[in-house]
Formats: sequence, C-alpha cells, structure tokens
Amino acid sequence: MTQRFLAIGECMLELSPAGEGLLATGFAGDTFNTAWYLRKLAPEAVDVAYFSAIGDDAPSREMAGFMRQSGITPELIERKGGHIGLYMISLKNGERSFSYWRDTSAAKTLADDLTTLPVADGDTIYFSGITLAILAPKARERLLGVISVARSQGVRVVFDTNLRPRLWASHDAMRAGTMEGASVADIVLPSFEDEADIFGDLDKAATAARYHGAGCTTVIVKDGPASVLVSTPKGQTEIQPQTVADVVDTTAAGDSFNAGFLAEHYAGQSLEAAVEAGCKVSAKVIGKRGALVAL
Ligand code: ADP
Repeated sequence: MTQRFLAIGECMLELSPAGEGLLATGFAGDTFNTAWYLRKLAPEAVDVAYFSAIGDDAPSREMAGFMRQSGITPELIERKGGHIGLYMISLKNGERSFSYWRDTSAAKTLADDLTTLPVADGDTIYFSGITLAILAPKARERLLGVISVARSQGVRVVFDTNLRPRLWASHDAMRAGTMEGASVADIVLPSFEDEADIFGDLDKAATAARYHGAGCTTVIVKDGPASVLVSTPKGQTEIQPQTVADVVDTTAAGDSFNAGFLAEHYAGQSLEAAVEAGCKVSAKVIGKRGALVAL
C-alpha cells in the first residue's frame, strides 16, 4: 500500500438548500471528494493528504479544520488576503443546479511558485482535469513538470480527466491540457460520455487507445450505468456495475468510484477487483443526496 496519497486541486465551500430560505455549509470539490472517500476506505497507515492554496480568512481556516477532522492531512499554501472558491446548489422541482464563484479563488494559484510536492518514492499523486483547468497556462506547465519529476523518482501518478469545458479557455486548450495530464500519469480514469463529446471517441476502446498513445499504461473508462473498460497493454476486460434501482443524486459518482478503485488497487488486488470495488462505492454514493455521504 502506498504510504502517502496526495490529492491536488480545489476544495470549495458548498452552500446547499436547508429549507425555508436557509443554507447549509459544507466543503467539497472533485479531487477532495476522492481523498475524503479514500480516507474512509484505506487503512489507517495510509496518509491521505490534500494539496491546494487557501486564503487567510475564516472560511479558509474552517476548510483546513474540516480536512483535519476528516482525517486528511492539509498541505495548504496560505495566500494573504485570499479566499476559497464557493458553489451553491439550487433545487427546482427536485432538479439540482449549481452556481460557482471560483474565478478568484486561492486554489488557482496553487502552482504559481511550485518547485516540489510533499511526496516521496512509493507515494501516489492524484489530480484531475479540473486541477489543470483552474490554473493559468504557465502554472499548469509548472505543476505537470513537478509531477513528472516526482514520477521519475518513484511516485505513482493517477489522473481523472474530469472534462469541464466551462473552466477552460477553449476546447482546443482543454484537449491539449488533458492529453498533457495523461502523459505524466500511470493510471487515467476518464468517463466515456464526456470523452465522446469532447474528443469524438466512437467507443471506450478508442478512449483507452488515445490515452495509451499519450504514454499511460492503465486506462479505466467509466460509463455511468454501462460497463467499465479496463485497458492495459496486456489486454482489455469489461466490468458491469451493479444496477442501482433508485438513483438519487449522481454527484461524486466518478470521484467515489476512483476512491474505491484506488483503495483496492493499492491493497494489491487485481484491476478487475478494484473496478468492482469502485462500482460498489459509487452505487452507495448515488443512492444518497450530496457529494460526501456516509458509506
Ligand atoms: P462521472 O461522475 O465521472 O461522470 P460516471 O457517471 O461514469 O462518472 O460514473 C462513475 C461510476 O459510478 C460508474 O462506473 C458506475 O459504477 C457508477 N454509476 C454512475 N451512474 C450510475 C447509474 N445510473 N447506475 C449505476 N451505477 C452508476
């Protein structure tokens, strides 16, 4: 098992409807959600850590406190006068919609002066397409360079492509940035629907082939309720997720899948067993409301 799992990205303050004009607060964000679920699933001995930048205000401090309370080691750069990003969930006729205020968040500066990451031989770095999308081009290059150096020193790298067109300057920039992310990763965890949309992949095998072409050895292509493709240079298999009769909220389906997959994979199980574990975790998560649910 890996000694340290370091997720890199943006965790935000979440505001969600709590009845009669009230809002409940929480903290969430794609890479953070994976760290949070992994903390629940991995053995105590694994240090699950979160790398980002925050401000020096009360919400920033509360977020760091929430990480600690959740058993996650905060690796947070503090920016004087900065603040964390925010999103709000609105409910209309049972449908959820999301509004974001993250353009000026401290997390966007997480790689501005980065020279090294707090990882060593045998550890794992986890990042996503959202991690890359929020950074300015130079900072993105810097982060990928530092990840690449860590990888050459024995750190394993896992990348969820998490394609979010609204966060990128253009579709071309998103496609180029995503492929660069995959080029420094050992494991890529894309979701087929988005990949087909953005890259025009005709099937999951095409998605896998494209990421293998970028230099990544293991590609796990998720596809909502449809089968998950496991692709390595040795061959491909498909695993069918269990049927979930009552899908309540698919928020964090992919993030929690990744945590279930990684916990099992790093415990030494086969890729197939790890995918089955990922499916089981996400089946529980989509049966309840919210990004972070009790398993
Ligand atoms: P993302 O949230 O990244 O778009 P997916 O929608 O592909 O990820 O889902 C990730 C995993 O969550 C799937 O591989 C599957 O195990 C589970 N999942 C998602 N939607 C459903 C569903 N409707 N029924 C059953 N399982 C689902």
